[in-house]
Amino acid sequence: MAFKLPKLPYEYDALQPHFDKRTMKIHHTKHHNGYTNKLNAAIEGTPLAKKSIEDILKNASKHGAGVRNNGGGFYNHSLFWKTLSPKGGGAPKATSKLGKAMAKAFGTHEKFQAQFATAAGTRFGSGWAWLCVNKRGGLFITSTPNQDNPLMDCAEKKGTPILGLDVWEHAYYLKYQNRRPDYVQAFFNVVNWDQVSKLYNKAAK
Ligand code: MN
Repeated sequence: MAFKLPKLPYEYDALQPHFDKRTMKIHHTKHHNGYTNKLNAAIEGTPLAKKSIEDILKNASKHGAGVRNNGGGFYNHSLFWKTLSPKGGGAPKATSKLGKAMAKAFGTHEKFQAQFATAAGTRFGSGWAWLCVNKRGGLFITSTPNQDNPLMDCAEKKGTPILGLDVWEHAYYLKYQNRRPDYVQAFFNVVNWDQVSKLYNKAAK
């Protein structure tokens, strides 16, 4: 079974004015689609074709650059779209499991945003910033280069990602040009915390 490009759970223009329609459409139909097709081409006829994407990424360093880069690209964007919403923004409910874990890890939501923005802003070149769950259910922020992610054996800090932000220029250049910090702030307005909460509950079980 080949991997399939997931449909967006909203229209391309739904996240405006924060994420513009043209960027969203190119990002999904060209970039994400490209990673998906190249991943399928790289694993076709190999034992990896029968594995889940999580299983493939767990041993990313052993599979060569094509699988590592395109498998990461497939997974990372699939998670990214799912955790955005036109009704997003704000913070997780303070009484939720995620809200409590975030308060424990970061103090206030403002402090979480500042730490996440720093991770996204200081990632040199292309990559991702992540909110992740560790083995004890605690939360931490990290970043990875290129299309790597914290599921990979080669990641600097490993964990289960529940929120990721794409900081490749293709994710923001048309609207924000070199102003990555503005794009990061815009992202906070479209985070789907209900979805992140569900991912947290699953990862922290
Ligand atoms: Mn991207």
